[in-house]
Amino acid sequence: MPGYRGNDEIRRLEKRFKFKFDKSLGQNFLNDGQVLADITEGCQAGPDDLILEIGPGMGFLTMALAEKAGKVLAIEIDDRLIPILQQNLAFYNNIEIIHQDVLKADLKALIQEHRQLPDGRRLSNVKVVGNLPYYITTPILMGLLEARIEAESITVMIQKEVADKILAAPGDKAYCVLTLMLAYYGNAALVRDVPSELFVPRPKVDSAVVTLTLLPGHGVQTEDEALLFRVIKAGFSQRRKTLSNALEGGGFAKDRVQQALQEAGIDPKRRAETLSLAEFARIADQLSKL
Ligand code: SAM
Repeated sequence: MPGYRGNDEIRRLEKRFKFKFDKSLGQNFLNDGQVLADITEGCQAGPDDLILEIGPGMGFLTMALAEKAGKVLAIEIDDRLIPILQQNLAFYNNIEIIHQDVLKADLKALIQEHRQLPDGRRLSNVKVVGNLPYYITTPILMGLLEARIEAESITVMIQKEVADKILAAPGDKAYCVLTLMLAYYGNAALVRDVPSELFVPRPKVDSAVVTLTLLPGHGVQTEDEALLFRVIKAGFSQRRKTLSNALEGGGFAKDRVQQALQEAGIDPKRRAETLSLAEFARIADQLSKL
């Protein structure tokens, strides 16, 4: 956002509203206009988009999004930020401030209600965007995916360490359950890294912006989705063990594991971190047949 003097503007509002940052709500606000612009570009906000913004804070990313999008729904939990948002965003007629906990909100109903504009136009795309409160990154992401909200993408600022997990490939150190769970729902790509000095107050960790483009179906076909997730979790429950030992340790019977791995053509001595999503699905499908 050109002309955004983050530190000055955040400090001005902080003073005026006697606002105190609440660490327990993950309040680290962006002070850099280029990052706001990169997030807006990363999600490709456009006039046909309804953007669901998680945690607008003081509303500077909200403004950048509203400049491009059809409408922005900004969901903020902290009641002390609501008057700040109302004042800061007063000149925008395409922003709706929703004072709710994103983990408890009925997002499907909110999307349904706000997609339709007063002039009769219906916004054709839904995109989720946010500089996430890091203490609830995984519950937010998994909640959005499991609720199967009707969105085409999720563009979020998260801890760099979590971004590395999401973007990892089989064999990488960061490859884990989260990598595979997200790959089941979409394709992840890095938008940019964000160093800690571009936030007020400055967090202890660096961050990154990632976009997950949601798939119309899933990253892999499987007979039983719940079983696939159980197999993935069991496989990673003891990272250093071989796949067959880890699956047995995760509650699958030894003879079933041996047979399923053989039928799936997977070497039982491999470790979970080397398996692709498709390979996990082959194992789960064999286990469900037995
Ligand atoms: N968007 C602003 C920015 O980029 O500068 C603020 C981002 S800050 C990292 C996270 C925001 O999420 C804070 O405003 C915080 O109050 C809000 N938040 C924390 N937990 C939340 C929840 N459960 N539901 C909605 N908002 C939440």
